[in-house]
Amino acid sequence: MSAYTDTIELQKRLKNKNAETILGAAVNNFLERVVFASSLGAEDQVITDLIVSLKLDIPIFTLDTGRLYNESYELITETEKKYGIKIKLYTPDRKEVEEMVNENSVNLFRKSVALRKRCCQVRKLEPLKRALADYSAWICGLRREQSVTREDFTEVDWDGAHRMPKFNPLVDWTEEDVWSYIKEHDVPYNKLHDRGFPSIGCACCTRAVKPGEDVRAGRWWWEEPEQKECGLHLVNGKFIRTKDLNIEDNDEQISIKPTKTA
Ligand code: SF4
Repeated sequence: MSAYTDTIELQKRLKNKNAETILGAAVNNFLERVVFASSLGAEDQVITDLIVSLKLDIPIFTLDTGRLYNESYELITETEKKYGIKIKLYTPDRKEVEEMVNENSVNLFRKSVALRKRCCQVRKLEPLKRALADYSAWICGLRREQSVTREDFTEVDWDGAHRMPKFNPLVDWTEEDVWSYIKEHDVPYNKLHDRGFPSIGCACCTRAVKPGEDVRAGRWWWEEPEQKECGLHLVNGKFIRTKDLNIEDNDEQISIKPTKTA
């Protein structure tokens, strides 16, 4: 069985399962080869709390683009202290950043969608690629209701860009579910959420939203909604769902073991 077909099988078994079961399945199927990519958003803080409280052996990393809000850096420190964990940071390649900003100016992302995507490529995608290089599966805090580009996510999707499964344990959670969990479990969260920021990325590309606005309206607000992905969840610039793929993956080296929990 290939990793892709194993993912399809796992996708069926995890349909409508809860977050604990999805995380358990990720560990049981991948052992030390699964990693959690935290964006430090509210959903990701819930997942960090679940990983620690369930005593799951899953390493956690985040991408430090160099343009984050100070509140995000403070949250890293607070989270590490509360849970007694280490969140590994991946930063962009210095040479690539220097070339990019010296060619196009420091705030190049305002000039065009193409330059915004280049900035995300250098500051996020390349570090993510390095972060995932030693792993065979990853976990993230995506939810279907977050945006029009995410409404078809499932509990585990095939990530064609990194050729590995991507587990989405909170895929069917509502925003209310997330905040209820945070309050109930006293989970540390980014203080910008209290100031009108439902979704937090780089400081220069995120603003507060007005009451009633879409939760992602404050991200790259000068672009159209369907353009608003940094590329972390895209393949060749397109949003790809597992069900859209029809590929033979026989060369894939990794294989998923039968799950114990799903
Ligand atoms: Fe660059 Fe903005 Fe993307 Fe951050 S969110 S990597 S600053 S374009």
